Amino acid sequence: MAEPTLMMKQYLEIKEQYSDAILFFRLGDFYEMFYDDAKVASEILNIALTGKNCGQEERAPMCGVPYHSVEPYIAKLIAAGLKVAICEQTEAPQKGKKLVDREVVRLITPGTILDGDFLASKTTNYMCCIFKDTGGAGITFCEVSTGDIMTTSFIYGNETLNIIDELARFAPVEIIINIDGYEDAELKKYIDEKTEARLELCNDAYFLPENAEALISSHFKDMNDELNQYSACATGALLSYILQTQQMDPQHIRNLEVYESAQYMGLDQSARRNLEIVESMRDKRKTHSLFWVLDDTKTAMGSRILKNWLLRPLLNCAKINHRLNAVASFKGDNIARDNVREVLCYISDLERAISRIVMGSANPRDLVKMRESIKWLPRLKKELEFFDAPLIKEISDFDELYDIYDILVRGIVEDPPLAMRDGKIIQKGYNEELDRLRVIRDKGTGAMAEVENAERERTGIKNLKVKYNKVFGYYIEISNMYKDRVPDDYIRKQTITTGERYITQRLKEIEDEVLGAAEKIAALEYKLFGEIRDILASQVDRIQRTARCVATVDALCALAEVAYKNNYTYPVVDMSDSIEISGGRHPVVEKVLRGSLFVPNDTSINTSDRRLTILTGPNMAGKSTYMRQAALIIIMAQIGSFVPCDSCKIGVVDKVFTRVGASDDLAAGQSTFMVEMSEVAGILKNATGKSLLILDEIGRGTSTYDGLSIAWAVLEYCAQKIKAKTLFATHYHELTALEGKMDGVVNNSIAVKKRNDDIIFLRKIVQGGADESYGIEVAKLAGVPDKITKRAKEILEGIESEGTQIRVISNGRRIQKDASAQIGFDAFAGNEIVEELKKIDPNVLTPIEALGKLFELSKKAKEGV
Ligand code: ATP
Repeated sequence: MAEPTLMMKQYLEIKEQYSDAILFFRLGDFYEMFYDDAKVASEILNIALTGKNCGQEERAPMCGVPYHSVEPYIAKLIAAGLKVAICEQTEAPQKGKKLVDREVVRLITPGTILDGDFLASKTTNYMCCIFKDTGGAGITFCEVSTGDIMTTSFIYGNETLNIIDELARFAPVEIIINIDGYEDAELKKYIDEKTEARLELCNDAYFLPENAEALISSHFKDMNDELNQYSACATGALLSYILQTQQMDPQHIRNLEVYESAQYMGLDQSARRNLEIVESMRDKRKTHSLFWVLDDTKTAMGSRILKNWLLRPLLNCAKINHRLNAVASFKGDNIARDNVREVLCYISDLERAISRIVMGSANPRDLVKMRESIKWLPRLKKELEFFDAPLIKEISDFDELYDIYDILVRGIVEDPPLAMRDGKIIQKGYNEELDRLRVIRDKGTGAMAEVENAERERTGIKNLKVKYNKVFGYYIEISNMYKDRVPDDYIRKQTITTGERYITQRLKEIEDEVLGAAEKIAALEYKLFGEIRDILASQVDRIQRTARCVATVDALCALAEVAYKNNYTYPVVDMSDSIEISGGRHPVVEKVLRGSLFVPNDTSINTSDRRLTILTGPNMAGKSTYMRQAALIIIMAQIGSFVPCDSCKIGVVDKVFTRVGASDDLAAGQSTFMVEMSEVAGILKNATGKSLLILDEIGRGTSTYDGLSIAWAVLEYCAQKIKAKTLFATHYHELTALEGKMDGVVNNSIAVKKRNDDIIFLRKIVQGGADESYGIEVAKLAGVPDKITKRAKEILEGIESEGTQIRVISNGRRIQKDASAQIGFDAFAGNEIVEELKKIDPNVLTPIEALGKLFELSKKAKEGV
């Protein structure tokens, strides 16, 4: 077999080290991909697959992308779940050297993308690292594009569920995990099936405690004491991974937040999904979620912080009121708030910009955006003076970054090009040497124009032109028509079809000066730009702190704006055990109702006489909406937002659980009923007396009697054992009999009005249980053909007229028990045989008497008495 070419050998050696990544191999102005990488990438990127002769019999499959517009291609590959290794030429081509050195300078993964154009600005882009063994687990989340990093650990059992909840909370795009951790079947299943994150399985060497400790103490100064071993291992491994992929110290990842999930309201993945907190269930749309209603922020930073608040509602009453106070203050002055929001419009994503600056990937325009943003900081501070809430005072005490603004104004021109190589970045007056070189270059350019004029005059050739190209530099071009007028001192350089190209001594002299100066200018601009970037990078802490303040102002202002526009009220939040909402509304449904008004309803739940509300009412009446609205109002209050109601008092809720609607997980081998029951099991295990439970139609996924019994037992357990605040919607009307018999259980229903065969939904919650389910009427409303609904009515009437007492209403249908298996004696009350049987006392009958009675009864039965 023939030897591969030198270059191909180099490629194969590098590729071997990065076998799990698509290798972008720099060849001149292109990044080329070869072999399997080329096949995979050409398919995803929709670019031509060609071949390269590489010294072997068969040409190597190859495809390539231009280096100056590589970002969209990388983004596409990353979005397809791949990892990209950027291999650059690390030296300039030299005469006599056949092969330039090449090296991988950066690995790009979903969690390490920094480029603003490929990160949705309002979306967080977390990567996470999990370390789990039999004793516990640690999990660290980091957003490389903003520098946010936080860690938590679990050591008291339940780690798997806790980790899954954290994963659901932050929805990371990339998960790094130790091998033992990934062997946990439940966690593996969740990661594989429920997340879209790219997985990086790392061996134990990554998670060594001693390495972690060393890394953490050098990076986060004195944080080791605050971290337990699990958090330390996860954080250390995450840092190693970033260092390894980025090949530089992520200086902007500085403030490690150690949190306990118990600091925040427990919202598991199903609650977050069912309540549509950050995305709606249908198609994971970004609209029609609670976040969609609340996100009236002006900056991407503000939007991200608001989303973070929604994912982590607070439990600390003082902190909640601190925020509420600030929102109230902003809401209280529309004009002053408008002024603040107007200034915010001019402030760009400082958080992501400083990250790119630190990681060396910022371009001149990033710096300009930063300058234009910082320019507005003093004005923002001034506008904030109108508000006196303590939190606003705290966050308006930000650093206005005057010195950084000064450098950016002095250093960077008004409107620099996007790319570094184009120069024209550094401001006149910033550096003497640069100014001097620019004069030389500009004089030279002027001198060229002079040469052109002088030569035209000397030769009398009117269309003589001084031109430039990369190969020959400056030259004089004479068309064929005037060839005979060319002076002797012209030196011919090239013949073209339309004429000849010449140089002269003078032209050469000026060219040396101009090109020399231009080259020096480019190098110097690059150097100066790098220096400015380094100065900014050294101030990362200050810039991040200011950015965080601006983001918080924006998020609070947005909450105030939304509260004002939607007529929300200030919730009273305390540590009591009751929830009293008067005139509550569903924040999303009230926004999307077309042509009708939302009907407000009261909610009253506590831990004594109104622990569990059984909610009955026809389908479509608004039961789910009502229950969800209570949960959403509580969540909103606990992030510090005003709420959609006339007034309310919220005793802080520690966790919200939902068991809502049918969803199956067939791919994971779970039927609808299994999913329902495993969710119920999870809720019963984890809910406390301070939790809110939204249980919608428990038990409907199985046969009526099994379902009713399960619903009953669950209800009992919630009301009597857990004593959680529970809203329990059901079509099992039998359960309403529990009011008055079981402590803390009350009946509510949703009123409807019946007119002939039609029903009108009044949407009003009233005391007491519903009398009927109106399933057939709702089916009619939904467009089920008249023939069917009429027949259903007949069947219903038939069943009812049988007069048995065994009536069960399920999902709007009354059904009769299976007579052979389950009918009781009561059904035959009044029957002579039964009456006689009742009179018999078997204890006093002799065997002969008993036999005689049996003959007698059997005869009567046969005669059909
Ligand atoms: P099912 O038992 O079939 O699940 P449901 O009783 O849970 O029905 P919802 O899904 O809550 O009913 O509500 C049905 C529709 O009624 C909602 O989509 C909404 O458009 C409307 N609706 C609910 N509550 C109200 C209200 N308070 N005011 C106005 N419209 C409402």
